[in-house]
Amino acid sequence: MRNRIYHLLMLFAAIGAFVPVLAVDTLLDGYVRERESAKLQLAVEELANSSRLSVEAGIASLQRVINSSPTVCSPTFMRNARMELQKGVAVKQVAVTGQNGAQMCNALETELVYAGISQKIGLPGRNETLRVVSVAGQERPWFIISGIVRGNNVVSTLVLSVPRADFGMTKILAEATVVHVKLTNGTEIYTLGDSTPFDQARDRTAFVEAESIAGDIPVRVHAVVPFDILRLEYAGLDVSFTILASIFSAGILWLLLRLVQRSNNATFGLERAIQAGELEPRYQPIINLQTGAIEGCEVLIRWIKPNGEIIAPGSFIEYAEISGLAIPMTLALLEMVREDLEELAIEQPQLKIGINLFERHFSDGAIVNDVTQIFGGSAIKFDQLVFEITERQPLADVADANATIAALHDLGARVALDDAGTGHSNLAYLQTMGIDIIKIDKVFTDLITERSKAVPVIDAFIIMARDLNMEVVAEGVETREQALYLRGRGVTFAQGFLFSPAIERDAYMDMARKLNRQYGENADLEDDITFAA
Ligand code: CA
Ligand code: CA
Repeated sequence: MRNRIYHLLMLFAAIGAFVPVLAVDTLLDGYVRERESAKLQLAVEELANSSRLSVEAGIASLQRVINSSPTVCSPTFMRNARMELQKGVAVKQVAVTGQNGAQMCNALETELVYAGISQKIGLPGRNETLRVVSVAGQERPWFIISGIVRGNNVVSTLVLSVPRADFGMTKILAEATVVHVKLTNGTEIYTLGDSTPFDQARDRTAFVEAESIAGDIPVRVHAVVPFDILRLEYAGLDVSFTILASIFSAGILWLLLRLVQRSNNATFGLERAIQAGELEPRYQPIINLQTGAIEGCEVLIRWIKPNGEIIAPGSFIEYAEISGLAIPMTLALLEMVREDLEELAIEQPQLKIGINLFERHFSDGAIVNDVTQIFGGSAIKFDQLVFEITERQPLADVADANATIAALHDLGARVALDDAGTGHSNLAYLQTMGIDIIKIDKVFTDLITERSKAVPVIDAFIIMARDLNMEVVAEGVETREQALYLRGRGVTFAQGFLFSPAIERDAYMDMARKLNRQYGENADLEDDITFAA
């Protein structure tokens, strides 16, 4: 389980290493948006500001003409008015209309033809008013700034509404989808471009927009630029960012690789380790609970690294199975077992040897030939062999498995269902498979806490095994209470730390020689018997 989580973590970390590369676009998009938004903001502020300056210039001209001319439309007035036209680029006309609305005079001495676009509006904090008008012959509307003077005559100056728009706009505004210039009350002054693409866009983030109001002048400028156009200018940066991010990702991957190599989880090199003989068998004794004798052992695999480090199978078995290395691994192990246990097999031919097989062994059947070749002609007889098949994983093909089991039976070997109760088996399934032995998983043995307190699930296993004529081996026995409970229920065989962990060949042989002399086949095991450590 820990192993699987570790694998998952590594996988996520490896994917995570590529995040910088994948994120380049997003990061760059964010950068471009921020920079270009600021630029666009400046541009619209500049535009709005030019409108404010234009209005202020108009007011200043108006006041200067009025203040320096005692009467309207006099030669002095006309001279002063013309001077204003020369002074400011924004001021285009100075005119006087009488009380009846008829024009009395103007600085250009031509008839001023215009049409109102807006009503007259007051300018906050000033006596003058502002009105948007379209002037004959002019592409864009102008402002009329008006002030009332002596005798209720109206003196007006005409100014460009947004001079910056007439005299050339910033580059970013030239790329705009639309630039709106409006009075703050919503009256349109003018629109550059076509706002339809923006108005109809489902995704407003496809644009960058900015807005500005012209200080205390009631003019608002709003501009929208397509993001794509702005983004294009950063294509060069895209490449450099990607290169940088790739270097970063490669660095992370390298670190991960180092981490994996260093960790115990070295599924790396399992194939090499098998060839180098780094995988060795260890033997966990199986004890007869009735007699205290050793009945045999289960062969458990250990990976002994050249530096002496011992790796438990939990961290490589799954990989061995997935990669198919479980087959050569088991073969190598069986050869070592033969070498290790031949001597003991001659001394104590009743001892059984439990060997764990994988699902793959049962589906391809080659294991039967391998077992025949390895043990045929050795001192270890086929009937000393017990092959364990785990219940944790379902069998791919029950028919194939049955054929393999039958062939192993034909040799004289027996088959045990390993980790019973943790998987998929049901009673009928066990019966048809020809299982000889049930190995009760440690999770069930752990349920036994007191000798006197019944554990129904264990009892059910025992009854089932008896009904099916199978032997029972209890795994993971760690306490005397568990051993005594199991013995009390008629379970004969057990393995677990109470008796011994998996040990090396020599230690196992010692133990078998000592225990099986001390407790003969018929010796009685008392309640207070000291179990071997
Ligand atoms: Ca096993
Ligand atoms: Ca087991």
